[in-house]
Amino acid sequence: MEERNIRFVRLWFADVLGSLKSVAIPPTEVEGAFAEGVGFDGSAVEGYTRVFESDMVAHPDPSTFQVLPWRQGTGTARMFCDIKNPDGSPSFADPRYVLKRALDKASEMGFTFYCHPEIEFYLLREAHRPGTVPEPLDRGGYFDHTTLGAGTDFRRDSISMLEQMGISVEFSHHEAGPGQHEIDLRYADALTMADNIMTFRVVIREVAALRGINATFMPKPFGEHPGSGMHTHVSLFEGDSNAFYDAADETHLSRTGKQFVAGLLHHAPGITAVTNQWVNSYRRLSGGGEAPNYICWGRNNRSALVRVPLYKPDKAASARVELRSIDSATNPYLSYALILAAGLDGIEHEMELPEEASDDVWGLSPRERAAMGIKPLPSSLDAAIRCMEESELVAETLGEHVYDYFLRNKRAEYEEFRSNVTQFELDRYLPNL
Ligand code: GLU
Ligand code: MG
Ligand code: MG
Repeated sequence: MEERNIRFVRLWFADVLGSLKSVAIPPTEVEGAFAEGVGFDGSAVEGYTRVFESDMVAHPDPSTFQVLPWRQGTGTARMFCDIKNPDGSPSFADPRYVLKRALDKASEMGFTFYCHPEIEFYLLREAHRPGTVPEPLDRGGYFDHTTLGAGTDFRRDSISMLEQMGISVEFSHHEAGPGQHEIDLRYADALTMADNIMTFRVVIREVAALRGINATFMPKPFGEHPGSGMHTHVSLFEGDSNAFYDAADETHLSRTGKQFVAGLLHHAPGITAVTNQWVNSYRRLSGGGEAPNYICWGRNNRSALVRVPLYKPDKAASARVELRSIDSATNPYLSYALILAAGLDGIEHEMELPEEASDDVWGLSPRERAAMGIKPLPSSLDAAIRCMEESELVAETLGEHVYDYFLRNKRAEYEEFRSNVTQFELDRYLPNL
């Protein structure tokens, strides 16, 4: 810190909904923070404690120390924290702890869990003013090399900041919607990746602010354009070997890989309230825009919930599966914990992989889908909450505290939404009814 002239160290953690929380301390306090943690009022953080037991302590994780590249001038660094109770026990409200517990379970079974997200977002001309329609920054489309400049430069600046913070970027391009962009992070273990996603969102917002524009991870800001997904490619490794790979199989997916996918499909209804946690998330999943809304798997099939990519099928290390429902506004710690738990449950119970959906499932009639055993994903936050209420796997993986809090919070969100009369309804019904 001395060498780099650091004046402030920000301690970061996530609340239960995945918003980033931050408290800054001067370098003189860092030793104390390592020894004893830094206290804060948990009752003021979404999903943490109740008022009568509000003291919580943030313990910085030194392996996550990074300098914030956008704070040139006053050297500022950050560390992610583990949240503990005053007696030193880990807090059951801490999403990072939820993921760590799921990872411990994987490691007891001999697995390391790797993730690689494709993060989509929209760039808009200006900060949102309530009551106005957002305006995309550019008019580009999928893979367009925009000479429109702003978006391309935006990606270049963001990627260089991410790399300065130790986050490798694999791929970036213009997405299908106007002003929509995608940046794919190079795979990492799930805990590092969840931290990276939290950092990613800050970097994207900071770069947007520096340029006087706005960036949003809202799942579906425009009815007429595709939403912003966060497709995540996942794999399990046993030591150095990819447990999902089998050269001899037609899909190149091993028995373990197939059972993992079977577990994901089996638990998909229960985990969707977390992977797609907002009322708005379900506008993206309403069909079309390459977002899935049926529970099935396929190879070269972008309407499937789980896709087994065809690229480099002979490369053992890159064998993986892609979950396509999860969106860019999720809490990555909770979602990755649930994806892992669902897959491991498939392995533990040796679940059978259903038949591959090779057709475009949107094009099938409901009867054809039913005949193939293909069920829809929950179609609203309300439906997803009901499925989550029935999922023992979700309750067990999140722990009672996060599970109860999350359900309560989401029920309240849905009720608030339900009591709102939309412009659509006024325009459609008022003149005619
Ligand atoms: N934007 C699409 C979605 O909401 C995904 C497009 C793609 O295949 O990358 O899932
Ligand atoms: Mg994409
Ligand atoms: Mg994808």
